[in-house]
This record gives sequence, structure tokens and C-alpha cells, in this order.
Amino acid sequence: MSLKELDKKYVLNTYNRNYVNFVKGESATLFDENMKNYIDFGSGIGVVSVGHGNKIIAKTIYEQAERITHISNLFAIEPQSLLAKKVVELSGYDMACFFGNSGAEANEAAIKIARKYGQRKYNGKRYKVITLENSFHGRTITTSKATGQVKVHKKDFAPYPEGFSFNQNIEKIYKSVDDETVAVMMELIQGEGGLMTFEIEEVQKLARFLKSKDILLIIDEVQTGVYRTGEFLASNFYNIEPDIITIAKGIGGGVPIGIVMSKHKEIFEPGDHGSTFGGNYLSCQVSLKVCEILEKHKNTGVLKSTSDYFSLSLLNILNDYDDVFDKILGFGLMKGLRLKNENILESVIKTLFEEGVIVLKSGKNVLRFLPPLTITNKEIKEGFRRIEIALKRIKNED
Ligand SMILES: *Cc1c(COP(=O)(O)O)cnc(C)c1O
Repeated sequence: MSLKELDKKYVLNTYNRNYVNFVKGESATLFDENMKNYIDFGSGIGVVSVGHGNKIIAKTIYEQAERITHISNLFAIEPQSLLAKKVVELSGYDMACFFGNSGAEANEAAIKIARKYGQRKYNGKRYKVITLENSFHGRTITTSKATGQVKVHKKDFAPYPEGFSFNQNIEKIYKSVDDETVAVMMELIQGEGGLMTFEIEEVQKLARFLKSKDILLIIDEVQTGVYRTGEFLASNFYNIEPDIITIAKGIGGGVPIGIVMSKHKEIFEPGDHGSTFGGNYLSCQVSLKVCEILEKHKNTGVLKSTSDYFSLSLLNILNDYDDVFDKILGFGLMKGLRLKNENILESVIKTLFEEGVIVLKSGKNVLRFLPPLTITNKEIKEGFRRIEIALKRIKNED
């Protein structure tokens, strides 16, 4: 059976997949079964932050697996405590962590913390969570409902939990908060929703307003976190102090992990929340190593120069193809290139892929770039050379 046939027969049909068979990766370069190579500007949706086939990560996984992978949260787990310390220190916030296995789980935990805050401080009168249009917060029933996209709230999965609504923009939040609102949850760059970024002053003003009303600010950094925007957290970049922050994707470098960090350290008590796999030896030891690699990458200035080179390359594309694109979006190595004509989004991504470069989509009309943070300049150069070839082809075809 071909890979496609196998997948179609035995895997539930939730993804529109590309049936290339990748067998190997090195840094930001992937190889398929025919050894054709691809420059990966998507890094598995911002997950493989330190690159494919990273030898240090492989060694860390091997060495940890040889000792202990999992012992359960019935016992203290040293790498978990050390990772919590590392993440808290890198963030600069006075917070404590809970460990799960995914972004959605981290957001679920964030919502539980907020709800309990409302119970304890306001006798349950405050429970509503406000999110933003085009946000994305996960695929569980609750985080789907928190996601500000009607197409995700399918009747097929109803009923959804109560107390979630989304606003069109930040300005609308001021009018829609009431004395039942317990939290506002948002991304600082909407990773799935078209790379929409918010103005720094606008977010700071909202943060001050929420603080004055004792409404919690939850920042979903599942995609923006762990140096993606240049700082450890986008919240650092925005210079705000959220109450709760969620992290996942990039911190594990490919190993599943989700973290919720909270300023309100006293909310949870034993029995309130838990996870079998969350915070195990393997995922925490690897994430510690990812943090170590990226901290150095940032402090030596390599991250900045990589991201500058990437931005410059994008700018060249925008200048050369201003009939196709109209804007560059995002920060750091979380970038978008907006198409003038949304109808060609899928075909552009397909042509790029054929030329050997992997680019993601975001929203209706944006090419999304989330390369490994450790991508080399040589790979960036080659990736953009291929993008030029693909775009020339597209031009000649129409
Ligand atoms: C990917 C993502 C999630 C969901 O993470 P999973 O690990 O797929 O559950 C939540 N929020 C944001 C902003 C994301 O990008």
C-alpha cells in the first residue's frame, strides 16, 4: 500500500494532507524518500525551533531515555522544576508553571485558573472569557469555543461550554466587558488568523484597563513564544505584564509539551488539575536544552542577524513582486507576506512546494513564515532563490 492509501484507510480524515514522504531533516532542510530536498520555512508550524535532526537534541533525548522517561506527577520531577525555573527566569515575570502536552491543554488550564479566580474572589459571579475575532486557541471543545472563528464552532460538536464570546477588535472589548467578565484571552500576533498584529500602545492600554477592573489578561503565546518574535516572549516585546501566559509549540523542539504560567500562584490546589504525561522527564529535559540553545542564540546576536536577513529577503520579494503582494506582517521570525489576490493562496503554496520550499498559510490571504530559529543564512538564501523561481513561474503561467 502507498503511504496515501495507508493514511486514507487507517487514519481518521481530519487533515487535507500533502502526501510527500519526508524521511530525513537537517537544520531547515527536509528530504523526501526520493532525496529531493525542501527548505522548510514552516518548521512543523513553529515547532522545530532548533531545526530538524538537531544532534544536541537527539543526544539529550537518547541520554534521558536511557535513564528515565516518565515516572508520573506523583513524584517530584527534577527536570520539570528546573524547566519551570528556566522559563520563569527567561520570561522575567514572577510566575509559576503547570505542565501539559499541547497548546490547547495549556489554554484549558489557563481558563481553569481564570474561572477559579472568579469563583474565589467574586463568588462565581465572574466567569466570562472574552477573546478576539480570528484568534486560534485550540481544538478541544472549550478552546474551540474560545477560538474567535465561527467556522470552528460547528453545530456537530454542540453544546459548547458557556461564557465565551469574541470581539471584532481590541476597541470593542472596552464596551463588552461587564461585571461577569473574568478574563480576556488573546494572541499578540494571530498565527492562524492572518498574522494580524496589534499595536503595542493599544495592547498596553488594554492591559492597564483590565488591571484597573481586576480582569485577568491571558496571553496565548503558543505560537509567538520562545524567541519566535525575537524576545523570549512576545509579551516581553510588548512590554506588558499578563496574568497568565501559555506556551507550547517551539519550546519542545519537536517533543510534545504545553505550559501555562500564572502570576496567581495560589489558585490551584491538589486535585484541581493534572496530567499524566505533562512535565515528564523526557519533554522537560529536551525543552530545557531547547531553551539553553535559543538563549545563547539570542545573546550572541545570531538570532537578530538571522531575522534581519530573513526580513531583508522578504522585502526584496515584496519589492520585486508588488503586483502579487502588498504587505509584510509580523515580527522576528514570525512573518507574513500578504497576497493581493486571496484566490491564488493555495496555488502559490503549491508552486512553492514544487520548487522545494515549504511555506504555510495564515488566514485567507497570507503566506506565513515560521522557519527554525536556527536556520542558516545559506538556507534562507536558497529558500528565497526558490521562491523567486516559483513566482516567475506563476507570472509566466497567467
Ligand atoms: C497551535 C496553537 C494552539 C493549539 O496548540 P495545540 O498544540 O495544537 O493544541 C493554540 N493557540 C495558538 C496561538 C496556536 O498557534
